[in-house]
Order: sequence, then C-alpha cells, then structure tokens
Amino acid sequence: MKREFWFVVGSQFLYGPDVLVIVENRAREMAAKLSKVLPYPLIYKVTAKTNKEITDVVKEANYRDECCGVITWCHTFSPSKMWIDGLRDLNKPWCHLATQYNQEIPNEEIDMDFMNLNQAAHGDREHGFIGARLRKPRKVIAGYWRDEKVHKRLGDWMKAAVGVAVSKDMKVMRFGDNMREVAVTEGDKVEAQIKLGWQVNTWAVGDLVKEMNTVTESEIDALVAEYTAAYDVATDNAAAIRYQAREEIAIKRMMDREDCRAFSNTFQDLYGMEQLPGLASQHLMALGYGYGGEGDWKVSAMTAILKAMGENGNGASAFMEDYTYHLVEGQEYSLGAHMLEVCPSLAAGRPQIETHHLGIGMNEKDPARLVFEGKAGPALVASLIDMGGRLRLIVQDIECVKPILPMPNLPVARVMWRAMPDLTTGVECWITAGGAHHTVLSYDVSAEMLRDWARMMDVEFVHITKDTTPEALEEELLIKDLIWKLKA
Ligand code: MN
Repeated sequence: MKREFWFVVGSQFLYGPDVLVIVENRAREMAAKLSKVLPYPLIYKVTAKTNKEITDVVKEANYRDECCGVITWCHTFSPSKMWIDGLRDLNKPWCHLATQYNQEIPNEEIDMDFMNLNQAAHGDREHGFIGARLRKPRKVIAGYWRDEKVHKRLGDWMKAAVGVAVSKDMKVMRFGDNMREVAVTEGDKVEAQIKLGWQVNTWAVGDLVKEMNTVTESEIDALVAEYTAAYDVATDNAAAIRYQAREEIAIKRMMDREDCRAFSNTFQDLYGMEQLPGLASQHLMALGYGYGGEGDWKVSAMTAILKAMGENGNGASAFMEDYTYHLVEGQEYSLGAHMLEVCPSLAAGRPQIETHHLGIGMNEKDPARLVFEGKAGPALVASLIDMGGRLRLIVQDIECVKPILPMPNLPVARVMWRAMPDLTTGVECWITAGGAHHTVLSYDVSAEMLRDWARMMDVEFVHITKDTTPEALEEELLIKDLIWKLKA
C-alpha cells in the first residue's frame, strides 16, 4: 500500500509574483529534502493563495487513499479566512509545521524585502488561530526544518497518522466469543466502527478446522522451513510444530481472503482443534497481524495498529498480559507473558520452539510455542477500554529489564518491567484508570505518537508517567469524565 503525505504552503498575492516563485521553489526543495529523512514521502502540492486552491487540495486529500495526512506551513502571511472552508472539510490528519526557510537572521542582508518574504513567525500565528477557532484536531510542531529533532517528531507524527489510516481500514476476524464472564475484553463494536473504523466480525471455529484440513503437507514443509530458519527447535515433537503450521496457514488464508489484519480466539472454543494456536499466532504476529487472546478484539486491533506505527511498518509491538509481580523491595517488577502468544518482535535473542502441556482449555495435544526473554529498554504498555459511551486509551511508561530470574520451568516467553512512576504507584494509577490486564507492549511507539493517534481518532487519552501521582490522576479522570460526557 502506497502511503504519502502532502505539503501545502500558505501565501497570498500581496507580495507580487516574484515572491511567490521563491516560496514555491523553497517549498519544493523542503519537501524533497524532508522526503529523504522522513519515514514517508512528503509531496509538495500547492502554494495556496485562494480559498479555492485550498478547498481543491483538501477535496483531493480526502479522496486519495495514499494521502495519509496534510502538513501545512505559512512561509509568508496567509490570511486564514480563506482556509476556513478547506480546513473544516479536511478529514485527513493535519500537522501544522511552524518553521522557517532560513535558520539565521542574516545581519547584513536583512531589509524590508527579506522581511516580506520570510514571515513565518507571524504567518504561522494567523494559521494557528484558525485551527484553534475551528477546534480542529491538529499537531503543531515548531522548529527549524533541517533540525534532526524536527525530523524525528514529524516522522513520529507521520507514523501516528499511518496508524489512523490502518485503524480506518481495520478488519478483525474473531474465532469464538470473549472468554465467558470477562468484562474488560467486551465493548461496543458498533461504536468502535463509528469511531475507529474497525469492522469486527465472527467466523466459526468449524470453518477454520475445515480450512486446516485443506492445507497440504508441502505447504506445511515450507512454513516449517521458515520456522527453523528463524528459531531454534528445542523439542522432538515435530508433529506439534507441523500442526501449528497447519493452523497458521489456515488462519492466514481466511484473514487474507477477508482483508483482515487482526484476529482473536479463545481457549474455551477450540472445538475440532488439537491445540490452541501458539507458535502459529506468534509467527502471524511477527508478520504484522494483530492478535488478542480470550476474544479480546480491542487489543488485537490495537496490536496491529501499533505494529504498523512502528519501525518499517512492522515494529516491536505485541499483545501482552500482566501476569505476576516480584515485590521484593528495590526489585519491584511485573512479569508479563501469555499462555502462549507473545510476539517474537520483543525477543532479546533467538527464540526457541518448545512443546509443553497446557492445562487451560481444550488442548488434546501439547501445543508448540516460542519461548524467549524480552529485550531491556524503555517501552510502554497501552490499553483501550470501553467506558460506556466512549473509549479511553491508557498508556503507561515502563522500563523493561533482562528478567532477573532464569525461570527455567516457565514454558512461555516472558518480559519483565518496572511500571512508572514505580511498581506499586504505577499499579494504583493503572487500576484507578481502569486499564486492562491485556495490553499492547511497544518498544518503538512513543506515548507522544499514541497521544497524537488518540487526538486524531477523538479518543480519551490518559498517560501514566514517572511524574504521575494517584491524587493528580484521580482529579484528571474526574474532569475528563465530565468533558467526555459533554462531548458525547
Ligand atoms: Mn489473557
């Protein structure tokens, strides 16, 4: 899928044709140079001088699937009343880059001509006013356009905007319903489609079993060869690995046929299957598909979206579950894992394939799964919950560590981390906000990117950081609850 962003530069006729030629040439140069350092191409579209030029480019931006967002900048003063109709109708993500072509004020050269050409300092303020007046969700990034910090932030915003495009296109394939009686994995699928664009629908496990029966031995041979190229085999149960390959091929075929990017299943509904998909789900996640256990379609879709927002469109983001704590003073950590399904994009080393008995659910045979330790480093966990009438995205900063214990008898992949601001305060904040036990854990999607994504999707955003206190968070949630009730 081709993805790009459009660069629209504001000006007006007041300065004469010579100035407009310079503005256009500079805008082209900036788009070309920025395209070389940003994760997606930035295409120069127009130096806008009239209402019609702006509404025309907005109509095209709204219509073109490859356009994932619009970046505006006002090189000169660009009166904002001519932007009203276009910006009101814009339905793609919008970033206002407040920058300047020149880095320095040229001491000898500066005269009134220079001043008339280089007016971003007040042009961008006029442009900012109309964004605020329209209450239009937008990202404002200020800084010199050749500065690496600006590139990083523009690039991150682009990735968040790609997350919006992926969300609006999201289809989730559900095998079975949610785990019985569980609350947080439930939610309003109609609201999710209205708000986020997700099409969440169910397919019978029996249809999956039927699909599995059409998978050929040579197809399984090919996928097992992929497994053994990427992972070490630490089991002599080749049949279990082959069974997982059969499951993976069938799930992938069904998803691709329906254009689904994410799926969920539940150990309570495996009728006709010998094993819960473990290695199968893990390898599908490595390919960029989203997954949620126990029918958790929200975390499944979010996993696919965060993966797409990560490095090279398939980053280090994964379905995760808070499992158990280490509460020794000075060594307070969460241990995260799942029954089987942890994405190998989190692995510190080369994962190994193991088979073990799985007591939970209807597993006739021991399922094969990848076992590994997660990487150390700063990361975050994110949880999207349904508050009734609205969605809330909770993000918590965490610090992942090499697991402090070898845990030789733990038969699943594991990640160990310390939640911010510290484990117990972090847990208090998370629980107060209503965050789920299922999350998306990401090493390469930042909280700023998720804040941008939430703003673009019109979803409540709560961020638990090293500076969060339970008291301040309680106040914040109370105020946000009122605001979001008013907005509904
Ligand atoms: Mn779970």
